[in-house]
Amino acid sequence: MALVVQKYGGSSVGSTERLLAVARRLIAAKQRGDHVVAVVSAMGDVTDELLEKALEISDCPPEREMDMLLATGEQVTIALLAMAIHSLGHEAISLTGAQAGIVSDSSHTRARIQEVRTDRVSEALDAGQIVIVAGFQGLTPEGEITTLGRGGSDTTAVAVAAGLGADVCEIYTDVDGVYSADPRIVPNAHKIDVVSYEEMLEMAATGARVLQLRSVEFARNHGVVLHVRSSFNDNPGTIVREADATMEQAIISGVTHDTSEAKVTIRDVPDRPGVAADVFGRLADANVNVDMIIQNVSEHGTTDISFTTPKDDLVRARQAVGRVVADLGARGHTVDESVAKVSLVGAGMKTHPGVAAKMFRALADADVNLDMISTSSIRISCVIDAAQVGTAVRALHTAFGLDEGSVVAEVAPAAAGGAS
Ligand code: ADP
Ligand code: ASP
Ligand code: MG
Repeated sequence: MALVVQKYGGSSVGSTERLLAVARRLIAAKQRGDHVVAVVSAMGDVTDELLEKALEISDCPPEREMDMLLATGEQVTIALLAMAIHSLGHEAISLTGAQAGIVSDSSHTRARIQEVRTDRVSEALDAGQIVIVAGFQGLTPEGEITTLGRGGSDTTAVAVAAGLGADVCEIYTDVDGVYSADPRIVPNAHKIDVVSYEEMLEMAATGARVLQLRSVEFARNHGVVLHVRSSFNDNPGTIVREADATMEQAIISGVTHDTSEAKVTIRDVPDRPGVAADVFGRLADANVNVDMIIQNVSEHGTTDISFTTPKDDLVRARQAVGRVVADLGARGHTVDESVAKVSLVGAGMKTHPGVAAKMFRALADADVNLDMISTSSIRISCVIDAAQVGTAVRALHTAFGLDEGSVVAEVAPAAAGGAS
């Protein structure tokens, strides 16, 4: 008997028909003799709709109340899915994050799971029930409801799988797996059969929203093998696991993009020791995440500093930067919301020189101007004009031979199996 955790995202539970289809899948797993835990997201676009409602009331709602609001989305799904399973003649119990023992820290709207107390889930499984857990939500030790950041149901699923020592953690979504680029932007992207945690981390961090970044970190830290696959068919998906010798190393695994960040530039900052520490210290104090940073060459004792930050953090960033400008006597600041980041990810980069040059050439040939550049050992990212993001991603995908049909052998056949 295996213990199976299956996570279903918003579009997989987006209607009554879809809920019934998921119920049938869970029942089929149970009938194969497995213990089954489902982790589910809010239906369809419910989370976005709740966010819009909140922003109609206030452009900076209290984060505790945001969590109270957003957590309701998942609670609707768990109850309806349990009812669907009952209507098909099987036993199921729905549990909120709190009831399922998901203990988080108190950073509202982006809380981190600290612990999963699995007793109640285990008891229900032992009693023969299919257990349905609300994704994306937790409870602080003080009894406050939190949410885990957008896409957080992935992390709930991995945490529950780790806590229970599950044999399988399947992430069911609306595409067949992790692709070499977002299939909505690159129609001839190819599905990756197996990808290492290391590469998946970089892909998730740079915009491949198919898995929340934190869920991949959690999976790597706890050795949970993930199987990302479609809830609309039975095709094998993508296995995410530790790299080993059987995993053939493509030079480039994927091209990702992210339009969720804005670029902030502070003009004419005095160029002296301690200024960058001051600027970014204050941004950190204001809880503003900073991604890329560029400081221009100093002229006449002043310089421009640019950085990118999630648009979600912009209200706080503008306030903090406004204070920095006044205190440092800088000339002012500008915010550009129409930027995008395109990234190339691949572990083979470590040993293959020339990848950056080839990337910049491909973007130049597509007439894409580069605004900022950053690298890690297995990633190169460029900030460009958001209007060119599709052109840029497709140009890179083709230039690096990733288009479906032009890939020879992404993965050694022996490595393509896994937890399904
Ligand atoms: P869910 O609601 O199931 O959690 P998400 O919308 O969060 O689904 O994630 C799935 C989406 O991620 C896909 O529909 C796809 O457009 C997008 N995506 C972005 N990059 C990738 C990629 N490299 N591979 C697969 N999907 C990707
Ligand atoms: N419903 C939440 C969101 O839309 C969590 C999730 O779907 O994973 O971000
Ligand atoms: Mg998601």
